[in-house]
Formats: sequence, structure tokens, C-alpha cells
Amino acid sequence: MGVCSVFYGLEKEDHCRDFEMSFLLLLTVVQYVLHTTAGGDMKVLLVSMDGFRNDYLTKTKTPSFDKLIASGVTMAYMNNSFVTNTFPCHYTMATGLYPETHGILANTMYDPEFNRTFTMANTESRWWEGGEPIWITAVKHGLQSGVYFWPGSEAAIHDRKATQWRKYNQTVPFKERVDTVVSWLSEGKFDLGVMYFHEPDSSGHRLGPNDPNLLPVIEEMDKILEYLMLTIENSGLKDKVNLIVTSDHGMTDIDLAHRVVDISRYANSSVLKSVVDQGSSSHMRPQEGKDRELVAALSGVEHLHVFLKEDIPERFHLKNNRRVMPVFAYADEGWMITTNATTSAQRANTSKGSHGYDNELINMKPIFIASGPAFKVNATVDPIRSVDIYPLICHLLNMTGAPNNGSLYRGKTLLNSSFSEVHSSQGSTSQSVWMEASYTLVFILASLNIYIYMNPNSVIIS
Ligand SMILES: [Zn+2]
Repeated sequence: MGVCSVFYGLEKEDHCRDFEMSFLLLLTVVQYVLHTTAGGDMKVLLVSMDGFRNDYLTKTKTPSFDKLIASGVTMAYMNNSFVTNTFPCHYTMATGLYPETHGILANTMYDPEFNRTFTMANTESRWWEGGEPIWITAVKHGLQSGVYFWPGSEAAIHDRKATQWRKYNQTVPFKERVDTVVSWLSEGKFDLGVMYFHEPDSSGHRLGPNDPNLLPVIEEMDKILEYLMLTIENSGLKDKVNLIVTSDHGMTDIDLAHRVVDISRYANSSVLKSVVDQGSSSHMRPQEGKDRELVAALSGVEHLHVFLKEDIPERFHLKNNRRVMPVFAYADEGWMITTNATTSAQRANTSKGSHGYDNELINMKPIFIASGPAFKVNATVDPIRSVDIYPLICHLLNMTGAPNNGSLYRGKTLLNSSFSEVHSSQGSTSQSVWMEASYTLVFILASLNIYIYMNPNSVIIS
């Protein structure tokens, strides 16, 4: 039984068939319009180029970045989280949570409950389950996500992983990563792609951010971006993929021969039990009951900022977690905390750059560029925060995100007006809202069509 026979019976067969055809056509058009405007066809590709400082693009010719910026939206830098190190910053981007909440608050850390030390090779679920990464949110919504390297992507988060993921292997050529992720998005019909490159961070550490030999590395990443954009275009995905290219942190010059703070000179084993990590910052375990004595011993040391856990400044969002040790310190930009100045000095010629410092320092802030059907064109907006990426991607993929510290209000400044307005529902979007709107619109248009059919003289088309 057709739609028409429900309304009219079968005596007006020819008219009825015409009406049914026009009704179905109308339905198709309405569904198409709603599907495209609601982002049903949208895909998101999140790319991180590790340690890509915000000013690197001004240091040499980067035509592909220039092209991406002209076709999309950028900002002077992105405000990232503290400490400005790879694992905490990447997991903040993926979850929209500050490190004290997601729990990956350093590259190396100690958990007193587990009585275990975390290193970057750790993929045990229990370390990662303080947050829900975006690739898990996607699969929970019935979407498909593929991650080609990202901190946390190898761990099962509450028994879930991305639809596709890869075990970290730095030797996989960058182009191979691009080919795989774009094939997921095209042939595999994936909705979300996430990928990671370890440059220009590796070279930045070795050379320092201001060495002329870093320029070819930046140019190489520009060529990888060119290859990525071309592969997306050749796969027919250019009008569907919202591409975000960003990074975790910046880089600054260090001098391991002359600019180190050797804490062993100020605090001995009577107050200091162990140092969990060292470098631009340090989590320290005092001897039992010696927290304040350890802080007192290190207070006033030049180029060092030392705190009892509870006194760590609120702006760092780095205190409310058991993995924050009773005493925490961070160094002035370019200075390194060590327990052995002699061994540090031996690495002075091979390690000339670092990061991890105060996230308010301009040199710690990374790039951010986004381009695609949802984003503004040739626009520069105020900096967003790295916690805003998670709710932004949830918005673009029509997903209800897990609780997070980000702001969709800030994220929406990146979007063109049509996409931003269509999705303007209380800070998070849900498929059901759009299904409801879709049915209402279909009902109104169908009623109008029936009215016109029954009253042909009511509409005069000149
Ligand atoms: Zn990094």
C-alpha cells in the first residue's frame, strides 16, 4: 500500500501515482539536505606533528601549510596543557581533559596505589581509563575510527579500542601512514582518522629549535602535508574531510653543560626518597613525613619552582591526582632539572632542545590549522585550548561527548556560520534531536504538498 492510498483510497490512481512520486522525491530531497547539513557525511582527520612550535612556519618556505591555512582557519598558537610533554598533551587533545583528570600527567610517573612506574611503553588499561579518547567515543556511537599512532591508542579503554589501530613503530614511513589512514576514510568508510608523526620533535630535541639544520625537517613535514592533502583529494574526500593539523607542544633551546639545576646538591637522601622523573619538571617522593623539609631544601634554588602538591598553582590543572607526587618542581625555560650534572653534561652535544615548561610560555605553544567543509576559509581566530579539540570533534561527528574540560563555544569560532548554526544545540549534539527535526520537517512539507494537491487553485505560479 502506497502513501497515497492511505490518504485517498485507490480511485484517483494516476493522480495518486504522481503524488506518490512527488512525495518520495520530496522526502529524498529533505533527507539529503538534513543529512548533509547535520554533518552525516562529515569525516574528521586529526593529525599531530609532534613538537611543531607555533612559529616554525615563519622560519622557512612551507607552501603546503600556506595552502592549508588559506583554505581554512588558523590561530597564532594553540593553548596547550601543562606539563608540555608528549603523553600528557596528546591525551588531553584526545579526551578534552586536563592531565590531573585523565591521569596521564607525565611521560614517566608513579602510581602509589598500583605501586608501579608508568613509562611511555605502557599500554595497560588501568593507567589510561581516567579519560575517554575521541576514538572510543566514536565507536560507542556506532562510528568507525582508525588511529595510526597516538598515546593511549594501544590500550583498551573499558574494553574498547578504535576500529583500527597500530602498535607504535617509529620506522613506518610517513607516507605509508598517510596512505593507510586515507584508505580507512575512503574505502573503509571510517568517520574518524587520527594520526601522529614524531617530527619535528625528534630533530628539535637533537638540534634545538633555532639550528638551521632543523629547516629541512620543517620542509619535509610540509611535503608530508602536501602528500596528505593530495591523497585526500585523489580519494574524492576533499569535500567530506575536516582536517585538523596541530601538535602537542613547542620546543626551546637547552644547554645541558651550563644550564642545569642539580637537585642532589640541595637535597640528600635524608629528605629525598626518589625522583620519579626529571628534565623540565620533576615529581619527587620525599622520605616519610619530610615533604615540607624537601620543599624547604629546594626553595630559593635559582631557576627552580618547587611546590607541595597541594600548593601547585590552579592554572596548571595538575594536583588532583594520586600520581602527582607530594613534591613537584619545574624549571625556568631552557633549564633542566637533574640529579647528576656530570652525566647531563655528557649529552650536551646531542640534546639541544626540550619542552615541558610552563604552558604560558610562547615557545611551548604549538600550531593549529583546520580546513574542510565545516571550517571557516582564510580566517584567523583567537587561540583555542587543546581541551577544546575533543568537544569540537564530537560536534563535527554529531556525537554526545563524555564529560570534558573543553569549550564548544571556543571551538565554534572555527566553524563557518552555516555549520555552526545548524549544530547549535546546548553545547553538545545528539542524533535524536536531528531525527526529530527531520520527521517534523517532512511532516510539514508533506502536509503542504497534500494541501496543494487538493486545492490546485490555491497556488498561482507566475
Ligand atoms: Zn611531543
